Amino acid sequence: MPVNLISHSSILLGKEEKKALREVLAGEQLAQGAETAKFEQEAADFVGVKGGVAVNSGTAALHLALLSLGVKKGDEVILPSFVCSAPLLAVLYLGAKPVFADINLSDYNLCWQDAARKISSRTKALILPHMFGFPADIGNFLRLGVPVIEDCAHSLGAKYKNKRIGSFGKIAVCSFYATKMICTGEGGMLLSDSRKILAVVRDLREYDQKNIFRIRYNYKMTELQAALGRVQLKKISGFIRLRKKIASDYTNCFKQYEKIILPGTAENSEAVFFRYIIRLGKKSAKFIQELNRQGIIARRPVFQPLHRYFKKNVFLPFTDEAYEKTVSLPIYPALKEQEKKRVMSAVSSLVCED
Ligand SMILES: *Cc1c(COP(=O)(O)O)cnc(C)c1O
Repeated sequence: MPVNLISHSSILLGKEEKKALREVLAGEQLAQGAETAKFEQEAADFVGVKGGVAVNSGTAALHLALLSLGVKKGDEVILPSFVCSAPLLAVLYLGAKPVFADINLSDYNLCWQDAARKISSRTKALILPHMFGFPADIGNFLRLGVPVIEDCAHSLGAKYKNKRIGSFGKIAVCSFYATKMICTGEGGMLLSDSRKILAVVRDLREYDQKNIFRIRYNYKMTELQAALGRVQLKKISGFIRLRKKIASDYTNCFKQYEKIILPGTAENSEAVFFRYIIRLGKKSAKFIQELNRQGIIARRPVFQPLHRYFKKNVFLPFTDEAYEKTVSLPIYPALKEQEKKRVMSAVSSLVCED
């Protein structure tokens, strides 16, 4: 019997997005213009900061964020290893040295005590991703005395102490890649309260018509992406509501099983469930394989911890444990009721089997 595949992530576009794109196409401006400027201000207002600079990816936003903080060759940047390669690449673009800190097993976010231990006189910045939709413990990071770049690629809309994440650090970056909280195909944004940082980044994003030459980039967003982003941003509260509903159904179903450790939100924070991560008491590879065999695309939450790409031994025991024992289940606004039930019943029977 052929089964329908339940994908791991999926986009949700409506007629509003199509209408917005048609309107841009009907005009004469496709490259960065008025739509982009509006998207920047709307995103900044949503997060609660002064301004935004739209770029063509989250990786570009991270690169410019580090540049605007003056990070250069030989400087150190602290970041987690349990994340995709983008933050690491941004550090390496500048010839700076990545210093990996471990995570908490409670929320899979960077552990502030381990980050504190890894600060040296050469530390210039700390990249703090709010992983899987769960706000990191920002208050403790802000006290470390190192400029914090909040990476909100997973967690746009999440709150810490009743304020949107992205409004705490010196700079925040967003990604609007196809699978993120809102999507523009590819795209990103840098947000900040500092007019100086915003001006520096705006200058670096575009290369032409400048009085003084320096190394600049072409990281601009198109009007098509911005138009999509504006519509998606208007829908984000609805998206978050749908994600939370699926998460609460999963939790209600799985909480009876002692063998599954459920995602836990820290005090004072509101998660947006970009991912629904469960942790098993043992290695998760077979569990993932079996779900996939049944047509349910589950994944490891992170493809590979970044420190494992390097030969040098780094001791990150919680990162390794999270990598080996976690499973990311399908969760997204477009997930159908029937699909959700299939996920719950497949996970339940797999847990009960062993
Ligand atoms: C997706 C992602 C990025 C990079 O964003 P792109 O738009 O794909 O370049 C950076 N950090 C995190 C945590 C991400 O998930």
